[in-house]
Amino acid sequence: MAETLNPFENMKKQVDKVAGMMNMDENIVKILKSPMKSILVSLPINKDDGSIEVFEGFRVQYNDALGPCKGGIRFHQGVTIDEVRALAGWMTWKCAVSGLPYGGGKGGVIVDPSKLSEKELEKLARRYIYAISEEIGVEKDIPAPDVNTNPKMMGWMIDTYCRVKGTASIGVLTGKPINLGGSAGRVEATGRGVRFAAEVAAKNMGLDMNGARLIVQGFGNVGSIAARLMVKECGCKIVGASDVNGAIYDNNGLDIDKLIKLTETDGTIKNYDGGERISNEELIEKECEILVPAALENVITSKNAKNINTKLIVEGANGPTTPEADKILFEKGIWVVPDILANSGGVIVSYFEWVQNIDHYYWPEERVNNELKEKMFQNTQAVIDMAKKYNTDMRDGAYMIAMERVADGIKIRGIFP
Ligand code: NAD
Repeated sequence: MAETLNPFENMKKQVDKVAGMMNMDENIVKILKSPMKSILVSLPINKDDGSIEVFEGFRVQYNDALGPCKGGIRFHQGVTIDEVRALAGWMTWKCAVSGLPYGGGKGGVIVDPSKLSEKELEKLARRYIYAISEEIGVEKDIPAPDVNTNPKMMGWMIDTYCRVKGTASIGVLTGKPINLGGSAGRVEATGRGVRFAAEVAAKNMGLDMNGARLIVQGFGNVGSIAARLMVKECGCKIVGASDVNGAIYDNNGLDIDKLIKLTETDGTIKNYDGGERISNEELIEKECEILVPAALENVITSKNAKNINTKLIVEGANGPTTPEADKILFEKGIWVVPDILANSGGVIVSYFEWVQNIDHYYWPEERVNNELKEKMFQNTQAVIDMAKKYNTDMRDGAYMIAMERVADGIKIRGIFP
């Protein structure tokens, strides 16, 4: 089949591939490829100029065989229903491979948030959560932040949900500000998880992280935190970084503290003093030992995979590599820690947050980070062992573990009615 950039089609291709390798029951595979519920909502808001604008939003609950659905909310102009379906599917596999008692879900709103005022953004966030308020709940479907949504927005959303439902159940959303029931360590969790997954993979492949050249595409929440920890704690040398405004490259190394400072002061690294300015496409092909794509989908395709010049790819973003590119990377001997494993630190700590909300008892950050480390180490090693057993790549290994767990859940429950 020709290469497609439709993320839902690509996710289903991956499911079919692994189902075939495992001789999985075709009837179960039909369920694994079908999102359980797709909700479409229209979201009118009063703009500051007195006009009304109507946005479109989605919530997809992909599968709940193993527990309530779980997954973030993306605000982006490029959101489509198929992207949300794919992201909800990936959440299903991510929670399963992580051993969490969750199914998968995801939400999205088609909007370029940079074009809204703070007040308008707040109205849109509140209207979206109101529109899906009957569909979510602590034991039903638990959203969280994703691209362009953040703890502050979770605060507005929690307030709206609690007012509308007449409840104080703050466990309905994770990724909240700390004083609203958020977990210590949640903001850094995904990037920290990327760093732990990278460490286990590097050890297994005999790659010394100390001095290893690192390139990070997408210097946002996940990318910047993964970069900082991999430089400060593992001794990597960051030689390239990018965001939506372009890329900066210097084989002698960039200053990680300056890059981080710029994200705090300017919200972009484009004003970094030094390095060579190149495009995001050029950056991804530069020579390095570790490459972390941490922006959006489809950045490594059959077109550029043969030019990728790294040893280890750790997928901070969801869906950065197409199935066709996977094949090329595997033939080149490049290890890829797949998204559903590499960026699972976020949902793991979201799970800790949910547990703390239900218990009304809060953990110190050290406990959060230690338990995250333990899970990431165990899960990454299990995936590597599975991939070795079947002589295949880590993506297949991760899907094998995840799909088997979800399929088992479906079989044990049976089909209603
Ligand atoms: P973010 O909005 O904080 O950061 C995204 C970064 O990517 C920004 O620096 C942005 O400028 C950059 N970017 C956007 N378009 C780009 C392009 N075309 N080329 C290069 N850079 C571009 O978002 P985030 O939360 O860090 O999420 C990044 C990825 O990680 C997404 O795929 C998201 O689904 C995934 N993810 C995030 C979390 C989380 O906890 N935040 C958890 C799991 C997975």
